[in-house]
Amino acid sequence: MTPGQVYLVGGGPGSEDLLTLGAVKALAAADVVLYDRLAPHDRLAQFAPTALLIDVGKTPGHHPIPQCDIEGLIVKHALEGSCVVRLKGGDPFVFGRGGEEVMACRAAGVEVTVIPGVSSAVAVPAAAGIAVTHRDVSRMFTVVSGHAPFSETELAGLAGLASTIVVLMGVGNLPQITQGLVRHGLPASTPIAVIERGYTREQRSIFSSLDRIVYDATAACVKSPAVLVIGEVVAYANRDDANAAFVLETAAALAPSE
Ligand code: SAH
Repeated sequence: MTPGQVYLVGGGPGSEDLLTLGAVKALAAADVVLYDRLAPHDRLAQFAPTALLIDVGKTPGHHPIPQCDIEGLIVKHALEGSCVVRLKGGDPFVFGRGGEEVMACRAAGVEVTVIPGVSSAVAVPAAAGIAVTHRDVSRMFTVVSGHAPFSETELAGLAGLASTIVVLMGVGNLPQITQGLVRHGLPASTPIAVIERGYTREQRSIFSSLDRIVYDATAACVKSPAVLVIGEVVAYANRDDANAAFVLETAAALAPSE
């Protein structure tokens, strides 16, 4: 790890077991770590024992530190000669504004290395036993941001794709998404799953259909962060996997110790 260098690191969807070896090595060498809430951060002091830890966490609708200030902090610490790790949830280039952070570093003449991470787009469905491309059921999956409402053109395009649809940041717009897809031709009975807080002890999955999910999600008080999965693959879910945090803990306990 080189001083003055930035590592833009994907931390996976929240469990430290889903950090890559590259992420663990970068953290171990870091002088400064700027981390988001969705990245695993409970034991950062152990993973990055020599680093100054800065919480730039974002919760929906509440940005404690604006994006331009985050970029400013990354660049400032790098120019001071620190080895900076920017630890983000999931993969840095999947709706994470990682592209902007790379551009900010390059504009300031700071070298940046990207260490990809396990994206919630695929891993969180897996946490609920859903294979996004189950053979003979779906041969594509489309990952979309539900942060802003979809246009009619987008809804028509999505409904016509015959693709598994994975929506991140979609809890707030759940009624618009589901009703829009039905309006554009998807059967009201199309299976949908909402998986909340994947890979944490609070993980919860709600299985429903496009016409009933708003009722079911409201009754269950679903909150962000959650991933929506829409399509026939949801009907093939192995619901025994429905508590991935437990599954990972069991796997770790079985692994040979060093
Ligand atoms: N770069 C991230 C996504 C950032 S957008 C990635 O690749 O995973 C943030 C959205 O990701 C959340 O609103 C939610 O839809 C999803 N998400 C991230 N972690 C999650 C988790 N542990 N459980 C459920 N959803 C999660």
